[in-house]
Amino acid sequence: MSSEHLVVAVDGPSGSGKSSVSRAAATRLGVGYLDTGAMYRAVTWWCLEEGVDLDDRAAVAQAAREIPLVMGTDPAHASVRVGGREIEDAIRTTRVSEVVSKVATNTQVRPVLQELQRELMDEIATRTGGVVAEGRDITTVVAPDADVRVLLTASVEARLRRRSRELHGGDDAAAVAATRDQIVRRDRDDSTVSDFMEAADGVRLLDTSDLDFEQSVDALVDLVRAEAPAKVRG
Ligand code: C5P
Repeated sequence: MSSEHLVVAVDGPSGSGKSSVSRAAATRLGVGYLDTGAMYRAVTWWCLEEGVDLDDRAAVAQAAREIPLVMGTDPAHASVRVGGREIEDAIRTTRVSEVVSKVATNTQVRPVLQELQRELMDEIATRTGGVVAEGRDITTVVAPDADVRVLLTASVEARLRRRSRELHGGDDAAAVAATRDQIVRRDRDDSTVSDFMEAADGVRLLDTSDLDFEQSVDALVDLVRAEAPAKVRG
């Protein structure tokens, strides 16, 4: 990992605000951004497109090695391209969300994507002066030597409310119930391969349950400024 550039690792469960908060913090810090969850989603989408059986672990790992994936790294403009096709919207559909855990819990896939993520983080940091990378295992496995490591959490209630507003446009009882599976079941499945519910040693905990979006971004940027003052520009 590059030593002169700012490297920030952010992990957290679904609905913690991790992606939007990390993206906004990267913009404020003037550095690039990597959404590693989008990479698991892209491999899932690619397997569905190519007819690869998601239960065939070796075939899915092979797909992860071969996928012609180009990750956008501009925090102000989300982009994921596969074979020249923009799939940023396609990877967020229920079709992908429902089965992405099969790919994320495939232990033959993880080292392939983890290595690619390290390479991308290095490349982004060198090109833009720094990187904020977010996911489930960035603080622990992908970049345990990052300058700043943060676990962004929020109570289950707060996470359900946020996600159901995002997915169903409201946070009434029916919308929250419809969201519960995507949050609670997925985190339970995914936490069998990465521990993102508790902060590892040296990882700072940022609980956003009682913070709105802007306050969460402020808190993350403040934490980065406090932990790596020499590497923050401006
Ligand atoms: O964060 P997002 O919902 O886009 O993540 C998609 C899937 O990839 C989830 O199942 C998540 O647990 C998994 N993931 C992972 N490791 C990461 C990032 C995401 O297993 N570093």
